[in-house]
Amino acid sequence: MMPEKQCLSCNKKLKGRIDKKFCDDYCRNNYNNRQGADVPAVVKNILQALKRNRKILADFLGAEEMVKHPKVKLLDAGFNFTYHTHVYTNKKGNMYHFVFEMGYLLLEGDWVLIVKRE
Ligand SMILES: [Zn+2]
Repeated sequence: MMPEKQCLSCNKKLKGRIDKKFCDDYCRNNYNNRQGADVPAVVKNILQALKRNRKILADFLGAEEMVKHPKVKLLDAGFNFTYHTHVYTNKKGNMYHFVFEMGYLLLEGDWVLIVKRE
């Protein structure tokens, strides 16, 4: 016996694929819009800045393990150094700022070392 599943949006019984969560795109959109409704604008803006920062770091890193770029290049790309998710200090005392799994270390001469931690 399969457990009965309901649409997360309208609570109607779902038929079909077991991983289905919604009747259709309408219900999915409805649900997703409601999810965001109680999130204050300031939270949305910071999340957006974090996501942008993460993407910029990921784009600069590409498939490399680490890369160095001038700080100004990150700024030009729209990177906002105000927002990060956490910091990590290694044994040498270097403080890395992380945006989720993407991190950077400020180097002398306004260079930035970009890294990734899985
Ligand atoms: Zn539905």
